[in-house]
Amino acid sequence: MKRCEWANDNAEMLVYHDKEWGVPKQQLSKLFECLTLEIFQAGLSWSTVLRKRDAFRKDFADFDVAKISRFNDADIERLMNDEGIIRNKAKIIATVENAKVCMEHDLVRLTWEPFNFTQMDGLNDNNKDDIKEFIKPYVKAFKSAGVKRVGPTTLYSYFQSVGVINDHELDCFRHSEINSLVE
Ligand SMILES: [Zn+2]
Repeated sequence: MKRCEWANDNAEMLVYHDKEWGVPKQQLSKLFECLTLEIFQAGLSWSTVLRKRDAFRKDFADFDVAKISRFNDADIERLMNDEGIIRNKAKIIATVENAKVCMEHDLVRLTWEPFNFTQMDGLNDNNKDDIKEFIKPYVKAFKSAGVKRVGPTTLYSYFQSVGVINDHELDCFRHSEINSLVE
């Protein structure tokens, strides 16, 4: 069975690749989780994020946007003291701010409406400059809504993980499979 090459890095990556990555997700908590984890991933490996995901879920109230939007300084301190997560204060604060944004803006629509709620085929064979060009207007839309720390790389990774873009390699068994799935 053929898989995207990165999936073979380790067991956690393989399971994530086979079960989750690129499956279209349209539930707010799932979208917010993916967005948050991609933001925390910046500068680190995805394996690190995956290993810490359970702690992230616990600390961030299972990514319940309404609950996170009410986090206060004491909550931020609590998270900064948890070695289970990635303790980056700026990113923790950005996550609380992003939850507030998602109380005002519908993240599901912000994510999916430009794509008519339909998965698009990936830019797999395209080069980095093409991806940069492609993602620009979406970065702009997210930033105008007030979403923090969403540069081109983070937003593109988010689109891949939530299944807006199907970027499984063409000969990966999941490429044709995930189109028909929705979570
Ligand atoms: Zn794949």
